[in-house]
Amino acid sequence: MIPPIFERLESEVRGYCRSFPTTFTHASGATLRDDRGREYVDFFAGAGALSYGHDAPYLREALIAYLQSGGIVHSLDLHTAAKARFLETLEEVVLKPRGLDMKVMFPGPTGTNAVEAALKLARKVTGRTNVVSFTNGFHGMTLGALAVTGNAGKRAGAGVPLAHGRALPFDGYLGEGVDTLDFFEHLLRDSSSGLDKPAAVILETVQAEGGVNVASVEWLRRLRRITEEHGVLLVVDDIQVGCGRTGPFFSFERTGDVRTGAITPDIITLSKSLSGYGMPFAVTMFRPELDVWSPGEHNGTFRGFNLAMVTATAALDAHWRDDTLTRETARKAELVRARLAKIAAAMGGRVVDQRGLGLIQGLECRPAKLASMVSKAAFERGLVIETAGANDEVVKVLPPLVIDDADLARGLDVLEASFAVAARRLRDDDDDTPALTSDYEPVIHAGASHDEEVRR
Ligand SMILES: *Cc1c(COP(=O)(O)O)cnc(C)c1O
Repeated sequence: MIPPIFERLESEVRGYCRSFPTTFTHASGATLRDDRGREYVDFFAGAGALSYGHDAPYLREALIAYLQSGGIVHSLDLHTAAKARFLETLEEVVLKPRGLDMKVMFPGPTGTNAVEAALKLARKVTGRTNVVSFTNGFHGMTLGALAVTGNAGKRAGAGVPLAHGRALPFDGYLGEGVDTLDFFEHLLRDSSSGLDKPAAVILETVQAEGGVNVASVEWLRRLRRITEEHGVLLVVDDIQVGCGRTGPFFSFERTGDVRTGAITPDIITLSKSLSGYGMPFAVTMFRPELDVWSPGEHNGTFRGFNLAMVTATAALDAHWRDDTLTRETARKAELVRARLAKIAAAMGGRVVDQRGLGLIQGLECRPAKLASMVSKAAFERGLVIETAGANDEVVKVLPPLVIDDADLARGLDVLEASFAVAARRLRDDDDDTPALTSDYEPVIHAGASHDEEVRR
């Protein structure tokens, strides 16, 4: 049931609830439950904010223990014991083992706060205004972050001109065989190119909202060389694909060992799964030489949300003192990859690309609307899964990293069945679409059956 209060009082701006029209009441691990007791496997994971699942017991216990001890909750940017423990743990568990020498800034609780701080700092350090971003990039909804975000619909919401950003083609944007960085390098070298020398380049190494586009290791290394050569700062926005989403803690670690060959960004943003428990929390980290802020130059009331620091510390303790999570993510990624390959093969020309890394993977559909039809069919059968890409053409698999094999298999079974159902509906809508490969009819193994029509 959906209480009428939402329609009556909540703004039309609400979005995800339209794709998943029910009222959720409980969640645990990789499953959600609604007010009718129906269970859903969660392949959306709070858009990547719930990599350790919903309500992980060890995080909840840390939180409750802290609250019961009378621990301080709100502290602006005062020194607190909880913040000291978080910083010590981040240093010991994440930064030191990777040889990363970084200062840590608390920019405010959301991802877009971290991006704004990164952009401000890059401009202050270099004295330049222009920032290069990439096609299909997504960096948040505030004006600075929107100016380096690709999506036209989101940009239009700004209501003012979005200035001082310049979008260049991401890896693969111009098709195979074109190294899009040739263009960037030409622009930088040509004094008549019309490109104002940028303060920074900002990118996601795997574009998440933009359609699960994976930049190659060679491309990333070359981008680092080019930015270094031209004195342009490199900002890696690891808000969605950091904290282990692609396997290692940082998404750029696949370019090599940070100590020997990996690209090292000048500025890194983290948020989403950083608190581990789904609580708002973000950091902007940068090389110590870049720390030119004067006290209070950037501030914000909710930079000291100690509850998020407590759970973030507990999450780092639980998952990042060894490589178990990274290895498990790689193992599960193979299960997902194999199943998506099977679906793609069965779909014939309806799936035109399979891509992804770690536990962010996607299938690009043609026509684009097939992806939303798959998401709808999946929801009816007990799976929450979202779409991504410029035209929502990609079905995006984004489960909690800690999902157990049974839930993963259950979700993939529903996904496979949902592709078959959506393709059939598509064919019923439109006789011109190509036939499915053979008589594709997967069996639904999902424990929860949600076949009844879901009412809004
Ligand atoms: C979600 C996201 C943001 C914005 O984070 P919010 O908390 O929604 O402001 C920025 N960058 C990337 C890559 C994201 O995925």
